Amino acid sequence: MASLLQYLAEMTAHRDHTLLDVSVVSALHQLTHSRDVRLLEIFQFRDALYLRPKVWTRAGKVWSAEEAGDSEQPKEPLANYPLLMDCIEQRQQGVENRRADGSVVFWFPIWLSEKAISCLELHAPLPLTGEARNIAEGILQVYRNYQSLLDYSERDSLTGLLNRKTFDEKFSKIAFSMQPGEECVVSQDANERRGCMESTEQWLAVIDIDHFKKVNDEYGHLYGDEVLILVANILKSSFRTQDRIFRFGGEEFVVLLRSVTLTNARKIFDRFRRKVEAYHFPQVERVTVSVGFVGISSNMPVVILGHADQALYHAKTHGRNRVCFYDDLVSQGLLHSETSNSSVEFF
Ligand code: GH3
Ligand code: MG
Ligand code: MG
Repeated sequence: MASLLQYLAEMTAHRDHTLLDVSVVSALHQLTHSRDVRLLEIFQFRDALYLRPKVWTRAGKVWSAEEAGDSEQPKEPLANYPLLMDCIEQRQQGVENRRADGSVVFWFPIWLSEKAISCLELHAPLPLTGEARNIAEGILQVYRNYQSLLDYSERDSLTGLLNRKTFDEKFSKIAFSMQPGEECVVSQDANERRGCMESTEQWLAVIDIDHFKKVNDEYGHLYGDEVLILVANILKSSFRTQDRIFRFGGEEFVVLLRSVTLTNARKIFDRFRRKVEAYHFPQVERVTVSVGFVGISSNMPVVILGHADQALYHAKTHGRNRVCFYDDLVSQGLLHSETSNSSVEFF
């Protein structure tokens, strides 16, 4: 009982999803005497659902994808797990699979806003006792409740996107973890069709709706709000689950795009711009966005953001409804590169 309370106190002490995930895996591993526990992320990729480990135990230790390098965890089709798929389709709390060797695998999907976002998987050498099962279900309930509370504090209430506070926390973590030169990891991007090697990087884009004040002035704030929600939906459908989308302020958004080449980053941001341009917004009809983007380097976070802002400002002052890449503007002599952290200008 004392250790159960200790684990619950530990789980709810965190303000960070990864630490919460690590503590729930560790609690389930210890308290149910399972052989191994995994927390699997459930995500959509080209019309199919996939699983990818986020946190797992190995040889008695707990590991997280964040420590191990996020993109290296292989994904598996959810279709490989028909019992789990049924459990999710029928919105059940959990399902167990008894194996020929007598061991048991339990799956407990985790729901957020009507969507299964992850799943806890327990491997036990024998079926769980009634007490162990009760403990596991209790811990899962606390985890689900606490996770939705954490999620609520991280998101913007109008659009459901991650909020500015979350951006500040996540971006400083990413930027400070970059080592000088790390922005040039050379690998073949699967989507790259040009047949040559190009480095994949992380990218930061600042996106701002053009002439949004006019939308409010002409149609009123409610229509303005609807445009914000619809642009947020287009953003959600334009980027992958491993990318991060934030509402940065009023009608401004930030996207962190992971592990793609410059050629693909250009394509992805421009495809999003064209999607907004082609969308028919109720009453308002046509809305456009301007985008400024930059590679995430070992510069100070404030400098990286400042560079994206400079590229956005250039897009705004050169016709709007366009995507500008900071380095292009610098190499064309349209902007001056700033390397000094103290003298960078912000807009
Ligand atoms: P630009 O093309 O240069 O970006 O022009 P703009 O009119 O989009 O830019 P400006 O910064 O002048 O106006 C932004 C407007 O966004 C002003 C503000 O009233 C509106 N706004 C900010 N937050 C919200 C919101 O939550 N809802 C609505 N409806 N409007 C908002
Ligand atoms: Mg604007
Ligand atoms: Mg703005």
